[in-house]
Amino acid sequence: MKVPLLDLKPQFAQVKDKLVPELIQLMENQTFILGPAVEKMEKELAAYIGTKYALGVSSGTDALLLALMGLKIGAGDEVITTPFSFFATAGCIHRVGAKPVFVDIEADTMNIDAKKIEAAITPKTKAILPVHLFGQCVDMDAINAIAAKHKLAVIEDACQAISSKYRDKQAGSIGTVGCFSFFPSKNLGCFGDGGLVTTNDEALFTRMKALRVHGTVETYMHREVGINGRLDALQAVVVSTKLPLLEGWSEGRRRNAARYDNLFADNRKVSVPKRHPERRHIFNQYVIQVEDRDGLKKHLSDLGIGCAVYYPLSLHQQECFKPLGYRKGDFPVSENAAMHVLALPVYPELPADAIDYVAKTINAYTQKEKPMCSSATA
Ligand SMILES: *Cc1c(COP(=O)(O)O)cnc(C)c1O
Repeated sequence: MKVPLLDLKPQFAQVKDKLVPELIQLMENQTFILGPAVEKMEKELAAYIGTKYALGVSSGTDALLLALMGLKIGAGDEVITTPFSFFATAGCIHRVGAKPVFVDIEADTMNIDAKKIEAAITPKTKAILPVHLFGQCVDMDAINAIAAKHKLAVIEDACQAISSKYRDKQAGSIGTVGCFSFFPSKNLGCFGDGGLVTTNDEALFTRMKALRVHGTVETYMHREVGINGRLDALQAVVVSTKLPLLEGWSEGRRRNAARYDNLFADNRKVSVPKRHPERRHIFNQYVIQVEDRDGLKKHLSDLGIGCAVYYPLSLHQQECFKPLGYRKGDFPVSENAAMHVLALPVYPELPADAIDYVAKTINAYTQKEKPMCSSATA
């Protein structure tokens, strides 16, 4: 049995009949950049996430960039973030001229360890940029409390966490500003690049809106230099059409994750993702940790089972960040995770027998690997 890590075709089949006529309508209208379709999507997403404002932007990366620029973070400033994330998280901090200051992660959730944040704060710190990694929220109460005490902004990288909740609040509605990605493999994906910023702060919203179109305040009048961070209408229509199905898809991922959890329950060689009871994990990725990760990855790949390593190298060890002066060993929990993580197929339409097959294959492999202390189920 071949099992892809992600198959988006069954999702398209669910929206095709509704979506295709809308895309054709848009092509008839020939209004492709921003405009009514983008504004409609922004209203719907703001209502869903629970913020006053939402702004459609060109990608999750540009969402982060606009959030930082909107908060006037730049040269000489420091932003505290996690070393265990997609590159864009730290890349954007560097791009505005600020310095990413890394804080190690929790071993079980692999999210930034809020207990270690205060020690990293200096007079130059302007913001905390936590990532709701793999679809589970960070400890937002703890982070907001630190931010309030030190007067810092909180930028939520919710690119993997749309529809994830912290208690009764949606990811991206809890900090100063939320950043989302509509990259096709995210839980709410469009047909190309796309993203969103959310906030309750009107002044910040107004600034980000201008910065999205080169800092335009009125046509061809620029108070400051912005970027081309516009979303196109075709992507907004895709997002609007898919939004009503998002809750069901996230439930599907949760159901699949629970099935894996059960199948791995007796296997001490596989660490399943830790779930907080008060945080709704939406499993953009289902990530296990195993000792012989590279061996297991090769074994699964040889059998045609899709799997991937998010992420193989901590951000503080990236070549481009050498000038920051970090060294191997600075963030041991993150470095350890990079060696042991493996993401398994978890997309909502994944059939139960495929999950059973993937888990059985992993249980057999991890059992065989060290027969001496085998306690795994067959
Ligand atoms: C996907 C992702 C981004 C960037 O989003 P793009 O739309 O690809 O630019 C940023 N941060 C995290 C954690 C992501 O997973």
